[in-house]
Amino acid sequence: KATVVEGDKFDDELATESLDESNAKSALEKLQEDRKTLPIYPYREELLKAINDHQVIIIVGETGSGKTTQIPQYLHEAGYTKHGKVGCTQPRRVAAMSVAARVSQEMGVKLGHEVGYSIRFEDCTSDKTVLKYMTDGMLLREFLGEPDLAGYSVVMVDEAHERTLSTDILFGLVKDIARFRPDLKLLISSATLDAEKFSDYFDSAPIFKIPGRRFPVEIHYTKAPEADYLDAAVVTVLQIHVTQPPGDILIFLTGQEEIETAEEIMRHRTRGLGTKIAELIICPIYANLPTELQAKIFEPTPEGARKVVLATNIAETSLTIDGIKYVIDPGFCKMKSYNPRTGMESLLVTPISKASAMQRAGRSGRTGPGKCFRLYTAYNYLHDLEDNTIPEIQRTNLANVVLTLKSLGIHDLINFDFMDPPPSEALLKALELLFALSALNKLDEIISIAAMLSVGNSIFYRPKDKQVHADNARMNFHTGNVGDHIALLKVYSSWKETNYSTQWCYENYIQVRSMKRARDVRDQLEGLLERVEIELSSNPNDLDAIKKSITSGFFPHSARLQKNGSYKTVKHSQTVHIHPSSGLSQVLPRWVIYHELVLTTKEYMRQVTELKPDWLVEIAPHYYQMKDVEDPGSKKMPRGQGRASSQQLGS
Ligand code: ADP
Ligand code: MG
Repeated sequence: KATVVEGDKFDDELATESLDESNAKSALEKLQEDRKTLPIYPYREELLKAINDHQVIIIVGETGSGKTTQIPQYLHEAGYTKHGKVGCTQPRRVAAMSVAARVSQEMGVKLGHEVGYSIRFEDCTSDKTVLKYMTDGMLLREFLGEPDLAGYSVVMVDEAHERTLSTDILFGLVKDIARFRPDLKLLISSATLDAEKFSDYFDSAPIFKIPGRRFPVEIHYTKAPEADYLDAAVVTVLQIHVTQPPGDILIFLTGQEEIETAEEIMRHRTRGLGTKIAELIICPIYANLPTELQAKIFEPTPEGARKVVLATNIAETSLTIDGIKYVIDPGFCKMKSYNPRTGMESLLVTPISKASAMQRAGRSGRTGPGKCFRLYTAYNYLHDLEDNTIPEIQRTNLANVVLTLKSLGIHDLINFDFMDPPPSEALLKALELLFALSALNKLDEIISIAAMLSVGNSIFYRPKDKQVHADNARMNFHTGNVGDHIALLKVYSSWKETNYSTQWCYENYIQVRSMKRARDVRDQLEGLLERVEIELSSNPNDLDAIKKSITSGFFPHSARLQKNGSYKTVKHSQTVHIHPSSGLSQVLPRWVIYHELVLTTKEYMRQVTELKPDWLVEIAPHYYQMKDVEDPGSKKMPRGQGRASSQQLGS
């Protein structure tokens, strides 16, 4: 009987496959027709000639004109891939994946064959791959193995205006390589770019402008500032849905959490609308969303329905969604910022720049006249927004820059050809800090903790209807008030003991996806340590040793409890609090070390572990003195005595 079932199944599969094939053929023809309607198409020959005649070209063209999907294909068709790959970098993972998927469809090939992508922890390429989309960070990594990028005939640094740290470093590297590889073509492309500045930097490279099609966009401002922009955004969606003609809506939010909240409120409020109102299809998009769901934003909206896309900055220039007629712009994005006074880096919700606001509004006018609803006042726009977004290199802890360059084998940091060089004193200071951070640790447990910390705050899952269960499951890992770092270690070790069971994750309200990523990071770290011949030794029961090594890595992040239950950072006396998600938020130890600070309603410490103050002086005597960690009034030496002893020392 079993064979019959098998046979049936086999026949069915054959049938669907041949059906798919004939569908695929006509779909492919349709895609080829579509390619010819893109604004870039009439400039195909002119562009190829310019690339042939010049080594470096700056390309500027409206979002959606076809730069990212078409230029690599044109190069392939013109034979550039006969002697090397075409690499195209994107600042965001989602963009690299999504664009590669689209191009493989257009070329009628399987993703990962001729067209592929490479992002951290996911290499979807093969020996066949000639068009390779990747994050800018991945191309940086490739320099390590191939400092002349010999495998590439063309490198396209796309979305150059984003000025991520990796892109900025890439500029310096590819500019240098181009000098001794005259056969390498360099394309620097973007929708919105100070083209002259880029041209100057690349030794007066020519600028190629692709004229865009743009329809008028009506801009609406709020009369007064909005206290709660998330709520205002949802209200605006519903108003548009009920009062405005057909056309899809795009809302710009700052991150996954916000997108999920907005989605939930929207689903709740549309439930009561009844059948007279058209269907509202809600499509979120963010990096951690499963790929199948990411593809949903590109599906055409059924007749009579309306789509609302909830996106982060990714939809500003990296991804183009057809059919958007209304844009809602709350005016914020999440941005890394660095406070040089405290040496602390945090991801903050920040007002966008005027340039960003213009880009966002433009998304509504691609296929016809559009409307943009800005959830801020015209006065705010004119007076409060910066003209342009500040490049990441000027917002980051320079230790990152130094580490990245050093890891690429570039030691002459001061003379590195930055487009906007950071102040050299700041670079030197960063270098000093890195020397001060003492050697790597030898414990096996530490790399598990580091791996868990690196996947961010997406380990625990807390569904709205099962919060109590989820919290109980989470607290199990905190038994003995071990602190958040050790709790993360316990999660990892327990998962490993179950042989990486998915079921176990479900039972404990833990995100499998995040755990798998942590395992990948851990493997990578282990590989790196092997390469520099550091042996791992395990000592899971010596919790103090583990906590001490966390302290040695993060010694500047120490804080002391105050009488009112808040904390003050030891070195900079900044008032901070333990994040409610921490296992120690009710325990309030006297001294803690934290992984990061996040500013929401208050300045919160996330991932917190108790420490003994003596450790600070023991581990980082160049940073802490006894007076920093003594309790005021208790062990302080009487004045006279202190003076006497210093006199003794002096004599
Ligand atoms: P640019 O890089 O100039 O902003 P793109 O090459 O990304 O333009 O986009 C060209 C066209 O391809 C757009 O009309 C866009 O809608 C379409 N497109 C891009 N990616 C996808 C995708 N993943 N699915 C469907 N359409 C896509
Ligand atoms: Mg693009």
